[in-house]
Amino acid sequence: MTYIISIILLILSALFSGLTLGLLSLDKTELERKIKLGDKNAAKIYEVRKNGSILLVTLLVGNVLVNAVLSVFLGSIMSGFWAVAISTFLIVLFGEILPQAFFARHALKYGPKFVPIVQVVMWFVYPIAYPISWVLERTVGKETETVWDREELAEIIKDHEESDLSELDSDEQKIILGALEYSDKKAGEVMTYRDDCFLISSETVLTESVLKHIKDEGYTRVPVFEDRKRNIIGVLYTKDLITLRQTVPVSEVYRPNAILKTTTDETLDDLLNTFIREKIHMAYVLSSQNEFVGLITLEDIVEEIIKTEIEDETDEA
Ligand code: ATP
Repeated sequence: MTYIISIILLILSALFSGLTLGLLSLDKTELERKIKLGDKNAAKIYEVRKNGSILLVTLLVGNVLVNAVLSVFLGSIMSGFWAVAISTFLIVLFGEILPQAFFARHALKYGPKFVPIVQVVMWFVYPIAYPISWVLERTVGKETETVWDREELAEIIKDHEESDLSELDSDEQKIILGALEYSDKKAGEVMTYRDDCFLISSETVLTESVLKHIKDEGYTRVPVFEDRKRNIIGVLYTKDLITLRQTVPVSEVYRPNAILKTTTDETLDDLLNTFIREKIHMAYVLSSQNEFVGLITLEDIVEEIIKTEIEDETDEA
């Protein structure tokens, strides 16, 4: 009988101690996310985990109570020294280390089985647990939501990239990282530099050789400038040249204002929103001195997001 009572007390001690570490180490926000994804174990644990302070007080009161009873009980059946030595050994090994190591790894899987026991204990301990948790929340504060910033999210994705257990394939990881990082980038970092840009003067006459040159360049949009190169006034769409029947100057066929204006330090997410809102997919980029320094298109931004160079049918390898 003595052994049975000791073992029952030890099991209870193990349970309280293991659950304290296991359940409280499960982040509330993470549990909420798992519940949204249909995780039933998370939903069961959340029933007791949602009020962290009450749960903490309940499990600690339960643990301390059981450990005290166990020591006193052993003290009543053996000499003081042995009672202290044996209860310390049993409590540390079987009541603390083993259950904590177990629940630290398997709280989500096995925790739900013990939720009903925790709820019963909670009910008994509530008159003590409530005032203590009330004081706790007012002194050390309420539990805060876990929110990761962009850099931390990127690190989490990178860790997944290195883990064999990850379900994400490398393309998904690349795109997620690109999406997290692109908004920090500026137009000046991804634009096509001025010297590589193909522009055309509004006064240029679209002779056969000019048309051939435009065709050879291969771009769909050719920004049109007036006077000096930096004064861009619109875009010549190469598809508009298909219906051309006479030799006319660019000024007669270009589309005014079909190009946006941006600066080198505009962020790519702002620019992407502008492209979508204005339904125009090219912008010319101005430096802080208001000089034309390059061109940027929707494709340049998409390439940053998917972290891959997109080449189309007309691009030379
Ligand atoms: P689309 O794919 O819509 O037919 P495109 O292939 O001519 O157009 P984009 O796909 O928008 O051009 O852009 C591809 C790359 O070419 C981007 O890096 C962009 O900056 C660059 N680019 C586009 N037009 C010009 C141009 N007129 N001069 C120089 N670079 C350009």
